[in-house]
Amino acid sequence: MQINDDIQYLKGIGPKKAKLMYGLGIHTVYQLLTYFPRAYEDQSTLTPIAALQPGDRATTAGTIVSVSDRTGGRGGRMLILTAMITDGSGYLTVTWFNQKYLKTKLKPGKRLFVTGKVEYAYGGRGQFAMSQLNGFQLLGENDAPEGHTGILPVYPATEKLNQNFFRKVTKTLLSDLPPLPAVIPDAIAAKYHLLPLEQAFRELHYPPTFDALKAARRTLAFEELYLIQCGLLLLKKQAREQEHGVRHLESGRLVKSLESSLPFHLTHDQQKVWQEIQHDMQAKEPMRRLVQGDVGSGKTVIAMLALVKTVENGFQGTLMAPTEILASQHYESFTQQLGPLGIRVGFLSGRLTKKKREEVYAQIAAHELDIVIGTHALIQEGIHFAKLGLVVTDEQHRFGIAQRAELEKKGTLTPDVLVMTATPIPRTMTLTVYGDLDVSQIKELPPGRKPIRTFVRRPDRRGLIYQYVHSQLEEGRQAYVVCPLIEPGEETSSLPSAEEVFDELRYGIFRDMQVGLVHGRMKAAEKEAVMQAFYEGKIQMLVSTTVIEVGVNVPNASIMVIEHADRFGLAQLHQLRGRIGRGPYKSYCILVSEGKTENARERLTIMANTNDGFQLAEEDLRLRGPGQFFGSMQHGLPDLKVADVPGDLDVLLEARQAALDTLADKKNLPFLVPILRQQYHEHFENIIEA
Ligand code: ADP
Ligand code: MG
Repeated sequence: MQINDDIQYLKGIGPKKAKLMYGLGIHTVYQLLTYFPRAYEDQSTLTPIAALQPGDRATTAGTIVSVSDRTGGRGGRMLILTAMITDGSGYLTVTWFNQKYLKTKLKPGKRLFVTGKVEYAYGGRGQFAMSQLNGFQLLGENDAPEGHTGILPVYPATEKLNQNFFRKVTKTLLSDLPPLPAVIPDAIAAKYHLLPLEQAFRELHYPPTFDALKAARRTLAFEELYLIQCGLLLLKKQAREQEHGVRHLESGRLVKSLESSLPFHLTHDQQKVWQEIQHDMQAKEPMRRLVQGDVGSGKTVIAMLALVKTVENGFQGTLMAPTEILASQHYESFTQQLGPLGIRVGFLSGRLTKKKREEVYAQIAAHELDIVIGTHALIQEGIHFAKLGLVVTDEQHRFGIAQRAELEKKGTLTPDVLVMTATPIPRTMTLTVYGDLDVSQIKELPPGRKPIRTFVRRPDRRGLIYQYVHSQLEEGRQAYVVCPLIEPGEETSSLPSAEEVFDELRYGIFRDMQVGLVHGRMKAAEKEAVMQAFYEGKIQMLVSTTVIEVGVNVPNASIMVIEHADRFGLAQLHQLRGRIGRGPYKSYCILVSEGKTENARERLTIMANTNDGFQLAEEDLRLRGPGQFFGSMQHGLPDLKVADVPGDLDVLLEARQAALDTLADKKNLPFLVPILRQQYHEHFENIIEA
């Protein structure tokens, strides 16, 4: 038996079952080997029913005493099956949702092994329930409880190819494993303490202990990420070798005079990032760097330094912001700071008149502007830079990669690219996964920031909350009120929309104040006008949906109320909260939530307890799962079978380093490239061996 043989020739399968397996994408022996368990059932320790602890996960077993079914859920279309089991010590009610095929199988007298989260059941002592199952095994009265010791794999099974079938065939396969292709060079396997591949596969399916499982997963995740990183890095390298970048000189007089005219010293992190950027800009390859720093960490000044550096070298630079207001804020601070240094800064946005716009185009083409700041308008057809050296995009998540590429093409040499984002880890990691950008991080905030104090409050306290907000406005501060975006017709009509909150406040307790409203369905111009008025202090309170999320800088705004805070992810709440605490005032963020679910309560409590965006991003991942973050972002990347990014960040970073080491030696390519082409044909077929 060879690794690429058809699955139907494996013992215990045959053509009929094989056909069903093809349907699951399992054609070859190797594909079965990499059909990994989605969970495990720990049957090594059975807990007697009477000893179950609500809240714990446990495995227990008993004999079915009664079975019932009913329908429920929305529209009554959900089938709810329950079985009561007993082991003599107590009773446990087990519930399944929409498992139609079980209906005929659950019968009194059968034995049930079940693993899941223990819940309380009505009915007194010794009675428990389970409805969130990790796995179960149903045995006839006379069946021996198969494999009922040890940790058992739980495969993504189907009605016709059930759990026991998969367990049988993987066992057969693993007991006589065909030779596996060696992918990772021995030196790397040794350096990173990887297990032998056979052992890793065996123990991923049938781990002797959970520690062994962890080690097996790590080895296989490493192998997977290593290969993908090799492919991505090679692609990037080969693409770059065909480009001619701008080679900037060491920073000189102009950069130095900007540095000395700044009203503050760069923080340690800013300095480090600035070094990295200078290094990249001075290299002959085009820079592609992402600067990731929490809101308020001071990324703008870094962009300014880099732009001045390109100007010093006789090039033009451009800074693209996602919104009109942000762009004009940047324009203002750039002219103020750079005008005295003789640097010509221009502004371009879709809102300029056609005539004005064409004037700016002409100035850009004639190199009468050194730095151009703007919005999307910057990537319009018809703009031609005389000598573009650097492109900075702020808050890149509002821009598609494609748009960035478009801007890069506007010059003749490939300009350096700097991307700034406040979105913490997850996106950075996607980019690491893409192998597309190098990453710099600013982790510390500038000194002297007053941490924002965050509170979680129930809706019945809204009256008091807004009274407090009112008192802050009386002292001259400004406030944000954020509401989740509610589409018309959405079933959660109990949530007030931004419009309703706006009316409630401006006709109610805030009738003596100027209250503004912005939401995503307003025309851009209207939105900008309201934002501008808030920026200028003509409006004291701004009611909005999440359109304020990105970058608005109003240092006088010191209080934010977020209605229905549980509707937002942590990362998003953090972004929103980053709009306050930007000035010398004590700032407060009040999260209004009924906190109906445990998860919602936990998330908001975390928000109240930390201001650290990195920590929040990780908590968010933990609580919401990577799907929320990665949904469509992984598009275009090979599917990961074992590795879980960002969960396996450590492994990813190691694998990336190992890939860099491997690629540093050209001798490795003739070995590596054919494997990449074969295993990831779709993604890496263009890679060449030379
Ligand atoms: P963001 O990273 O969110 O873009 P900004 O660049 O807007 O942050 O910086 C936020 C504020 O911090 C600005 O007012 C800026 O002038 C100030 N700032 C930036 N760097 C420093 C520093 N090293 N020391 C003190 N203040 C700084
Ligand atoms: Mg910024």
